Amino acid sequence: MLKKINHIGIAVKDLDVAVEFYKKLGLKVEACEIVESQKVKVAFIPLGEVRIELLEATSDDSPIAKFIEKKGEGVHHIAMGTDKLIPTLKDVESQNIHLIDRVPRKGAHNMEIAFIHPKSTHGVLFELCEEKEKKT
Ligand code: ZN
Repeated sequence: MLKKINHIGIAVKDLDVAVEFYKKLGLKVEACEIVESQKVKVAFIPLGEVRIELLEATSDDSPIAKFIEKKGEGVHHIAMGTDKLIPTLKDVESQNIHLIDRVPRKGAHNMEIAFIHPKSTHGVLFELCEEKEKKT
């Protein structure tokens, strides 16, 4: 059901500044986009099969703003990819794993996403995601 690590989400204070670091490493940044529902600005940086997802808060009540306030910049979540998100969520829930999102929501990059509650995961925020049709 879960196929691979899809991306690693990293909370940053300033996306433009953070992006410069990745450019210095020789990596290419895909288009930035704003995800209104999560109050974040997102940049994806492909690295082999995995992408780095940089997240900057667009408002003070964004989950990313709260995360940075508490813990500072750094790894925010790890996303596991599946090609069928809804059945995967049902399976996960049937194992008594607590979900933050029982119903998928729309994430960046044409993805349907849902988070598992860190209470159930020994401290890691895991996102489950399904890529919808690829943008070209
Ligand atoms: Zn993510």
